[in-house]
Amino acid sequence: MIELRNVVKRYKEKTALDGVNLHIKKGELIVLKGVSGSGKSTLLSLVCALSKPTSGDVVVDGHSISKMADHFASDFRRENIGFVFQKYNLISGMSVWHNIALPLVPLDLSKNELEARIDAQLKHYGLMEYKEVDVVKLSGGQQQRVAIARAQINNPKIIIADEPTSNLDAALSKRFIEQLQE
Ligand code: ADP
Ligand code: MG
Repeated sequence: MIELRNVVKRYKEKTALDGVNLHIKKGELIVLKGVSGSGKSTLLSLVCALSKPTSGDVVVDGHSISKMADHFASDFRRENIGFVFQKYNLISGMSVWHNIALPLVPLDLSKNELEARIDAQLKHYGLMEYKEVDVVKLSGGQQQRVAIARAQINNPKIIIADEPTSNLDAALSKRFIEQLQE
């Protein structure tokens, strides 16, 4: 499902990844551990096709992401990958509901289907009462739950999460991991 072949990523003189090889099979749940600055976010951005390796190849679900034109990469990302960023990347000025709805916009679902899907996520993450609230008014942990709900709304084949549980309490962290395993 995900393969990195001899991947090198350099930012000017800084080498963030130096010849990484990695194979992840369908159905696997992988946790990447490392000290701050060891290249975890860099590696995830390559798998999401948000950036390209300096050399080497990144293959996701049979597609060579590293060689894909940018507009193909963004279509591929939208259809196959859900992500939870370290800094959430929620859209401020928009409600919880609208943030979670974002990945569904290109799908042209019926109003009923759209509302049913979003309600299910709101319920699951205990966000129902914040449905209409602007995301800037939420606590860090609540924002993180919105980001997680948004990453899952599309039933993507792959979910990439960058330190997704750093602001969650133990019970919510456990629930997040359990849902990924499901
Ligand atoms: P982690 O997520 O494990 O903390 P990162 O992937 O964010 O690590 O960073 C790996 C290394 O690459 C660090 O030394 C960091 O300073 C550097 N780095 C990351 N992103 C950039 C960038 N956009 N420009 C320059 N250096 C970067
Ligand atoms: Mg990081």
